[in-house]
Amino acid sequence: MSHIQGHDRDETLLLPPRLDDYVHAEAPVRFIDAYVDGLDFVALGFTHAETKATGRAPYHPADLLKLYLYGYLNRVRSSRRLELECSRNLELIWLLRSLRPDFKTIANFRKDNRSLFKNVLREFNLLCRKLELFGAELVAIDGSKFKALNSKHRHHSARELKKIIARIDERIEAYLKELDCADGEAQGPVFTNPGDDARRGGGDGGGGTLREKIEQLRTSREEQNRRLEQLQRSGQNEVSLTDADARKMRQSTQGGYLIGYNVQIAVDGKHHLIAAEEVVQSSSDRGQLGDMAVAAKEAMQVPTLSVVADKGYHAANQLEACEQAAVETYVPAQGNTSGRSGKDGRPIYSKERFRYDAVKNLYHCPGGAELKCCKRSLSRGGREEIHHYANREACGNCALRGACTSGKHRVITRLANEAVVERAAQRYAAKPENGAQRKQIVEHVFGTLKGWGYGAFLMKGLEQVRGEIALAALAYNLRRVLNVLSMSELLKAVGRPSAAVA
Ligand code: SF4
Repeated sequence: MSHIQGHDRDETLLLPPRLDDYVHAEAPVRFIDAYVDGLDFVALGFTHAETKATGRAPYHPADLLKLYLYGYLNRVRSSRRLELECSRNLELIWLLRSLRPDFKTIANFRKDNRSLFKNVLREFNLLCRKLELFGAELVAIDGSKFKALNSKHRHHSARELKKIIARIDERIEAYLKELDCADGEAQGPVFTNPGDDARRGGGDGGGGTLREKIEQLRTSREEQNRRLEQLQRSGQNEVSLTDADARKMRQSTQGGYLIGYNVQIAVDGKHHLIAAEEVVQSSSDRGQLGDMAVAAKEAMQVPTLSVVADKGYHAANQLEACEQAAVETYVPAQGNTSGRSGKDGRPIYSKERFRYDAVKNLYHCPGGAELKCCKRSLSRGGREEIHHYANREACGNCALRGACTSGKHRVITRLANEAVVERAAQRYAAKPENGAQRKQIVEHVFGTLKGWGYGAFLMKGLEQVRGEIALAALAYNLRRVLNVLSMSELLKAVGRPSAAVA
């Protein structure tokens, strides 16, 4: 038996007469074409949506958006790769009707319209809402760190810059000493071996080479000093030299941190569609819940919404903002202490063992004493008011003191608006199924995006990476919708007859 054989390359073939015949009736590219054709590019504000009377004819933004959507759906993001695909990928040749924009045109389209991809995602989500693909009942919010186009070596804190400058100073000092020695030797006894003179730098006591090195170090020192001054003027405490907007992000892998951005998403529980996305520079998720929940609620156009998030989102002011926006939150309590002494790390009573009495505004401790509010302070950053509760006298005579505190008396702290945190934690505890669902709803979305290779940005700057994430989220939602509905249902939804009918 022989192997399956291909056609002879010199044989004349009767190829399908229409380009359309090369594209499968169920190919996702057909929906991309139909969906993008239905968008109002003038209203969305895309560049070159309207042409001028004079000058060179531009590409229509619809064609370039189709190209990007197809690329992101098929894990091709680079403008050079997209240019290449335009000339060899039959689906793209069909989609763009044989147009072949060069990589610069493709890259400029993404750069110039970066802020508008978010609006296209919103439009697409409205279509999903119309098709009842959003459950709009439970949304899970989470964040993940994505790498910026900036290596760890091109990122410095003010402290690191000071260390670099100190190291340069030490090296300059060492070279100056060497230079002094070399000059001294040059003025001293005559060398008996001419080779010694050559090794020291060609007859000037080695000064030529050393002086060059010192000069290079001084230039480098000036540059580092300039960076440090800029950093101090800006009020920041870190500088990224390639992507100035990127920040140091803490994470458990990759050596404990990466230089990048914190990507936030709100994912609907029904079909795991991304309802809202954002990119922030803060490494912490604490301040993100309110904005993300409100954005998800607006995207789905519902009067109320339930939101579940992990305990990193338990900031009282954010939970308060959610309550005011009619968003019911399910966030586990973090507690004030982990049940360990801050001094020696030995176990002590956790805060959960102290019962708060809202009527009397005091805590009942495990020893039966009442801890009253004795001090007020502000949190770091001054955003939240903290109340301190203690009873020095009771602790002084308490038999449980060894198990309760490593100090002279126990202090329990409470935010002025901690009741809102407790309400969210009580709801979370009352419905543990929401907590279990959170992981299933949101975590695999990040897994998919990173699996597609989108865990590292291609562009520099906050606005640019926001555009990238909007495109990635759009491609993700597109893929989900293509998995849920048939092509004929989708084409019908955007008012285009299916390929089989056409
Ligand atoms: S040490 Fe103070 S706070 Fe702790 S149980 Fe005793 S009285 Fe209560």
